[in-house]
Amino acid sequence: MQLIDGKAIAQRINEQTRAAVAELKAKGITPGLAVVVVGDDPASHAYVRSKERTAADLGMHSVKIEMPAATTQQQLLAEVHRLNADSAIHGILVQSPPPKHIDERAIVEALDPRKDVDGFHPVNVAKVAMGDPDAFVPCTPLGCQRLLMESGIETAGANVVVLGRSMIVGKPMAFLLMNKGRGGDATVTVAHSRTKNLAAVCAQADILIAAIGQPEFVKANFVREGAVVIDVGINRVADPTSPKGSKLVGDVAFAEVAPKCRAITPVPGGVGPMTIAMLMHNTVLAAQRAGK
Ligand code: NDP
Repeated sequence: MQLIDGKAIAQRINEQTRAAVAELKAKGITPGLAVVVVGDDPASHAYVRSKERTAADLGMHSVKIEMPAATTQQQLLAEVHRLNADSAIHGILVQSPPPKHIDERAIVEALDPRKDVDGFHPVNVAKVAMGDPDAFVPCTPLGCQRLLMESGIETAGANVVVLGRSMIVGKPMAFLLMNKGRGGDATVTVAHSRTKNLAAVCAQADILIAAIGQPEFVKANFVREGAVVIDVGINRVADPTSPKGSKLVGDVAFAEVAPKCRAITPVPGGVGPMTIAMLMHNTVLAAQRAGK
């Protein structure tokens, strides 16, 4: 069984990004990333800190904008418009989820698609569906695809089951894998909460990608002997044996599934670090495109 080391692969990709940043800087362009966080959700702040830190570490211009929970829709839209017009900023990300009174869709639609490094704007969603190389691809599915490619796992002709159909992970993942070309050309099934005989459907997969947000839901009977399993899930569960009282687990019951796999990602240290690496990659791409 091969343990897919997302942390090591992400570090390698970050080094490539660092070199690309240096190259752009030599041409007078410093890639700029603005991360906006509204409210005081601790998990959101932790994600934003690590994105900001990584961008700065790779030599980018990195801006964090913290707005209070009482921020209105108009104020947030005004901030997005300001960043759209700021030529020092090439990528904008509004950390999800915003407070409940904010219409997240309207915020995403207000982003300049050329700065939408999360790949959530409808223009980018359509481009991903069309297999357009100019798309900004959502970072988590892009990271999963890179993990497969970097680990030498062939997707062409493979039966892939994507478990989950969200706009952030499941749907774009399915498009990437079914699109033509390297890292694609797979036969893709998308499963979700209404799928019949879920375990049997998943057990058909050569490659199973789990993104449902249900701790350790995917058991050994979901997985064919010799399959590759990519676990996107990040779930915090109680753990009385840990000093923190909790731990992170994926959507896959790792201990019983791993022995059946040809390759599997751990949680943490699998898909998570790749998501941030792909955000950095997308920001450099945005700066390169703006410089043309
Ligand atoms: P969503 O809640 O938006 O979507 C979950 C999907 O899973 C839905 O399509 C839902 O089906 C399906 N689902 C939920 N429960 C079941 C079930 N019991 N059986 C079958 N299908 C089910 O989640 P996200 O896609 O945003 O995230 C999924 C997981 O990935 C979470 O654990 C999240 O924390 C993690 N994540 C990790 C990232 C990373 O960087 N590693 C980034 C983004 C997410 P239906 O549509 O029918 O309701």
